[in-house]
Amino acid sequence: MPICDHCGYRWRRRDVWRKLSVQARGTCPSCGTMQYVTATSRKRGSMYMLLVFLILIAQALFDLPLAWSITMLFALFFILMIFVIPRVYKLTSEQEALY
Ligand SMILES: [Zn+2]
Repeated sequence: MPICDHCGYRWRRRDVWRKLSVQARGTCPSCGTMQYVTATSRKRGSMYMLLVFLILIAQALFDLPLAWSITMLFALFFILMIFVIPRVYKLTSEQEALY
């Protein structure tokens, strides 16, 4: 789980989903300091988006039903949100440039 760079509080999974999954920043539930997802974490997280393209390519190449693609995309979304994102994200007190 992400740890606050300011106070050392270990964020809960629910906090990560609510605050970090959309904007990649949020206030620490313990100390209230604005925390940002590190650039390295954001880059690593975006690499998982390549799996979306693999699913779409597999659907096109093997002429799989659209329902299969939609099911796989939903499954991928939930796996990423529950298992991957909370483990991949690291926090910093200062916003880092992505490039
Ligand atoms: Zn904190």
